[in-house]
Amino acid sequence: MTLFEKIIAREIPADIIYEDDFCVSFRDINPKAPVHVLIVPKKVIPRVGDAVADDQATLGALLLAAGKIATQLGVNSTDKGFRLAINHGKDAGETVPHMHVHLLAGRELGWPPG
Ligand code: 5GP
Repeated sequence: MTLFEKIIAREIPADIIYEDDFCVSFRDINPKAPVHVLIVPKKVIPRVGDAVADDQATLGALLLAAGKIATQLGVNSTDKGFRLAINHGKDAGETVPHMHVHLLAGRELGWPPG
């Protein structure tokens, strides 16, 4: 089981803020912004680049969930706003091989990321 599967199964505690048929979202344990949540599919896809056609609904559901979660957190507006990020592999800084979307907000986010 991946670390995130254990969180989804409530075997490891996490601050879960959203759940639907496809995904679970919880606050990152080491936040990089005032708002930093992870949106994690219930179906394990190790990395986004491993996704196959059968994963299309799951991948779409993650982005739909991101919008709902941003609304829930009060950042789904153009004056505030949020960033979504997916890290694939070493150069991107991936540490948990269970693909997930980072939702970052709550401060001005630099571009490009470091
Ligand atoms: P990645 O680096 O793979 O894109 O993102 C993994 C993220 O998971 C990191 O931002 C890290 O802080 C977060 N993380 C790692 N372990 C835990 C944990 O046990 N609980 C929570 N809530 N987040 C975690």
